[in-house]
Amino acid sequence: MRTFALDRPATVAEAVGLLAGDPAAQVIAGGTDLVTLMRDGVSAPARLVDISGLGLDRIEWLPDGTLRIGALCDNAPADQRLRTEFPVVVEALRSGASPQIRNMATVGGNLLQQPRCPYFRLPEFACNRRNPGSGCASIAGDSAKQAIFGASDACVAVHPSDLAVALQALEAFVLAQGPAGVRRIPMDEFHRLPATTPHIGHSLRPGELVIGVEIPPRHHGRRSHYVKFRDRASFAFALVSAAVAVDLRGGKVAVARVALGGVAAKPWRALDAERVLAGRPFGQAAIDAAAAAAVNGAVPRPDNAYKVELVRRVVRRALTELGES
Ligand SMILES: Cc1cc2nc3c(=O)[nH]c(=O)nc-3n(C[C@H](O)[C@H](O)[C@H](O)COP(=O)(O)OP(=O)(O)OC[C@H]3O[C@@H](n4cnc5c(N)ncnc54)[C@H](O)[C@@H]3O)c2cc1C
Ligand code: SF4
Repeated sequence: MRTFALDRPATVAEAVGLLAGDPAAQVIAGGTDLVTLMRDGVSAPARLVDISGLGLDRIEWLPDGTLRIGALCDNAPADQRLRTEFPVVVEALRSGASPQIRNMATVGGNLLQQPRCPYFRLPEFACNRRNPGSGCASIAGDSAKQAIFGASDACVAVHPSDLAVALQALEAFVLAQGPAGVRRIPMDEFHRLPATTPHIGHSLRPGELVIGVEIPPRHHGRRSHYVKFRDRASFAFALVSAAVAVDLRGGKVAVARVALGGVAAKPWRALDAERVLAGRPFGQAAIDAAAAAAVNGAVPRPDNAYKVELVRRVVRRALTELGES
């Protein structure tokens, strides 16, 4: 049996102090990912800092329309204004896991969940992310569900979060509090591509805690949509997903945002697809061109080349459904 220390801080400052004071300490929130990893011998933190008592469970609308979602909000938010202003967020969360898990899982934990790479989750296999320098069993083995963008020779895993893809399309910020104060980290910089250090999956600094996410007012948020393609209709992670958001002025696209899930170690912004849409009438020709551009730069592996066509189809479907709504 492995033992560990458990702390239950009452304030964010206290939690930050505990994390900063012990590099072996790890946050636990809803526990829906971490407890599984501990049970399976993948993770063995010597100290857990239980943040469930910190009161970071509120959704707050600031006077200028900025939305702040506390890190401990669950993955089943009931906020009516959120559905209207940023439907893509609600749709992404609803597409994940099961109702029971969504009620336990937190926003911060969702963004920081570990990859679903089967080799990462089985300690007997080599995995550079779990055990730096040990190799990557997926590259020599099965990589059918792995990345087609931004992978490296060290790791080809994808990030499993649906929420992160929606937040990427809305250019949200992650709010992190550490010994030096609060930082606003752009969503695009929060998760890291593997390069030679796949064990460092995010850009939090030592002692930092995610306290929430912030979505500034976005006109295109109201016209946003999430489409997820997976092996079965529910209770499965995305093979490919797309979060799209479009603002129309006079029938033409003023702003377009396209983010992809299931294709990289971070939510992937399809910038070429966005450029193709900008300034054009929002019709089938523009949608087809954007779907084609969404795969620019893809480097598939022999067993996941199907994801290239899947990205085209998921982006086309997401934009088409958005146009019909
Ligand atoms: C069967 C199953 C199906 C699932 N399907 C989906 C799916 O389809 N889509 C999807 O997106 N997700 C899915 N999930 C993942 C689920 O959403 C995550 O497990 C959950 O969101 C994690 O939140 P948590 O609060 O339980 O995190 P925990 O398990 O408590 O923590 C997860 C990680 O985040 C860290 N952490 C947590 N909160 C903070 C914080 N505030 N600051 C710093 N670090 C923090 C922890 O240290 C740990 O490393 C599924 C999970 C299961 C078990
Ligand atoms: S793909 Fe990444 S997470 Fe999976 S085994 Fe390789 S190094 Fe580990």
